[in-house]
Amino acid sequence: MSGVLERRSNVDQSQGFDLLVVGGGIQGCGIAQAAAAAGYRTLLIEQKDWGSGTSSRSSKLIHGGLRYLESGQFSLVRRALRERQVLLQIAPKLVHPVPFLIPLYDDSKRSDMALYTGLHLYRWFGRGLEHNDFDRFEPDDPEFDQLLHQGLERQGLRAIYRYWDAQTDDRLLTRAVAYSAQTLGAQLKRRCELLHAQPSDYGWRVDLAEGGRNYRIEASAIINATGPWVGRVQQRIHGAPAPLPVSLVQGAHILIEGSLGESVYYLETDDGRGVFAMPWQGDTLVGTTETHYHGDPAECEPTTVELDYLRETLKRYFPLLDVQIKQQFAGLRVLDNGDGGFFHRARDSRIQQHWFEGRGLISIYGGKLTTYRTTALKVVGMLPEYLGKRRALADTAQLMLEPA
Ligand SMILES: Cc1cc2nc3c(=O)[nH]c(=O)nc-3n(C[C@H](O)[C@H](O)[C@H](O)COP(=O)(O)OP(=O)(O)OC[C@H]3O[C@@H](n4cnc5c(N)ncnc54)[C@H](O)[C@@H]3O)c2cc1C
Repeated sequence: MSGVLERRSNVDQSQGFDLLVVGGGIQGCGIAQAAAAAGYRTLLIEQKDWGSGTSSRSSKLIHGGLRYLESGQFSLVRRALRERQVLLQIAPKLVHPVPFLIPLYDDSKRSDMALYTGLHLYRWFGRGLEHNDFDRFEPDDPEFDQLLHQGLERQGLRAIYRYWDAQTDDRLLTRAVAYSAQTLGAQLKRRCELLHAQPSDYGWRVDLAEGGRNYRIEASAIINATGPWVGRVQQRIHGAPAPLPVSLVQGAHILIEGSLGESVYYLETDDGRGVFAMPWQGDTLVGTTETHYHGDPAECEPTTVELDYLRETLKRYFPLLDVQIKQQFAGLRVLDNGDGGFFHRARDSRIQQHWFEGRGLISIYGGKLTTYRTTALKVVGMLPEYLGKRRALADTAQLMLEPA
């Protein structure tokens, strides 16, 4: 099947919906798009604006996640690399390939052999895909100096590894997916908040607040795709199971005045993590951190400790750089409550589904921007058993995404 087979007019709200998708981040927009493409009558609501939550505060990378190899997340890496390829094809105005440079110093924690093996494995997981090669350059290679920003610390610099991933504008990508869902017939409502939901004969009777007006809709199933709000929203749904135990982990970014060139620098930190310094609209975006967060998701902001950590990491590699912070922002990862540091916790999404007496509630925990489409397909694949199959309209792997 390719592209949109047939356009649907917007659904008559009085008939009720098959699905109410709550949350207009990348996951909610992706699920609304996939559900509408599969023929379900879908309403997508967002309390603020499309992508205003985590989905505009990410590192903006469409990537396999080289570092996830260290924690054995092989299936996520393989899937994410394939999604990178799909997004490069269906969203060429929103996703573009970008070179990544990893400087290797005499005192780097990861050895030459470890980097070589990791990149080899990364290439193997992405075999058959474009932008899948890597190179190693030494100081006497003719290209060495051309590759690097002249401010990069040369003392002890033994080699540079270069590999490829992709970059996007996360907010614009989210909007493009929302727009695609609408084109397929989903109803979209911004500044519309889920207040409560209770079981009804139809499935769920849901109270919404939109622009100072409260009203009700009916839906057979609710998809809770509210990112770091997932637990709070679950508590507003009568009869919902307890939310999965998760940690909210803040990640901060700073935007530094001036460009370091067209490559992303992958900089090893003292604590063994990695920080990216990325080209971003003529300046340089530097991130990220991992800080436990307990407050209201709407209020997360970079802390002084995080700002110092990012500034100092950058200064270590670019000692002469005059680090002027133009902007700063933070977002929240939803990670499982596992043992060990956040760096090694699973980054894949987890899906909790609960069906009773013909009504469903599906909640999404965590996940990557890069793999939003596969998460959406997994969720929509759960629907036919309970809601029946519909006549599909399109395949989201083939639908072009345009900046909306
Ligand atoms: C620091 C950081 C860096 C990251 N970098 C990358 C990266 O480079 N590449 C990558 O692939 N992934 C990355 N990720 C992961 C990715 O950004 C997230 O997985 C993704 O954006 C989460 O999207 P979401 O839709 O689940 O949540 P969100 O984008 O937070 O969306 C949830 C939405 O729900 C809405 N909402 C909440 N309550 C209600 C309610 N009651 N009614 C209506 N709406 C409601 C909120 O307003 C919000 O817009 C990063 C994450 C973080 C935190």
